[in-house]
Amino acid sequence: MAVKRTPFIAGNWKMNLDHLQAVAFTQKLAWSLKDAKHDPADAEVAVFPPFTDIRSVQTLVSADSLPIAYGAQDLSANDSGAYTGEISGAFLAKLECAYVIIGHSERRTLHGETDADVNAKVRAAHRHGIVPVVCVGETAEDLEAHGPSAVPVAQLRAALDGVDASKGLVIAYEPVWAIGSGQAATPQQAEQVCGAIRDLLREVFGEDVAAATRVLYGGSVKAANIASFLREPNIDGALVGGASLDIDEFSSIVRFKK
Ligand code: PGA
Repeated sequence: MAVKRTPFIAGNWKMNLDHLQAVAFTQKLAWSLKDAKHDPADAEVAVFPPFTDIRSVQTLVSADSLPIAYGAQDLSANDSGAYTGEISGAFLAKLECAYVIIGHSERRTLHGETDADVNAKVRAAHRHGIVPVVCVGETAEDLEAHGPSAVPVAQLRAALDGVDASKGLVIAYEPVWAIGSGQAATPQQAEQVCGAIRDLLREVFGEDVAAATRVLYGGSVKAANIASFLREPNIDGALVGGASLDIDEFSSIVRFKK
């Protein structure tokens, strides 16, 4: 029987919006969802603010029971201790973060995160009941040298080593060359890699996990192209960067119609 996967539309704010701006943005997003009579069964909407915003977003979302999920953009692989500047999964769980982004290409390139680090962080998220949004993607050079899916699939295989998928997983395929470039992958390119990702999930965890796990596309997603990605059978949503900071644009994205 075909499993219905609820589309997931996530805004990765990166290092943008302070906690006051975050509250204003989240409030506007909630109004927009209300105006549109948004049905959470049609799409789950999530925001990923900077750490310093999360408490404010939590307060707003929980006080008004807003239909907006939220999470962090990273976490420590360790749970507590002498790790100056790090944030543990335990802290994020206390703030009721449902999700955490792990292995974003900016963490991999700017902070030297390896596949082993990503794997350790996925396990850390699971220890605290947080669903990891595991990011994988190839650079333009990887694409040239290895073709479309080899690098993202290898990154994912490493990220999932020894992981218990029953604790929840979301995968985001984000070609590095498409992030922030204005040059999104074509829906066909993205579908090819998301299909290969689902094949890997089937190989590692079996059919049920492969059928239930949401695989997102990210990289220059905007209101004008979201529907074309979501029409593809293996693409279940989007991780949106730049366009998630513009309330009108992001509101249009979450109201996508296939
Ligand atoms: P972009 O970023 O939408 O600005 O391309 C996507 C991401 O980095 O998650």
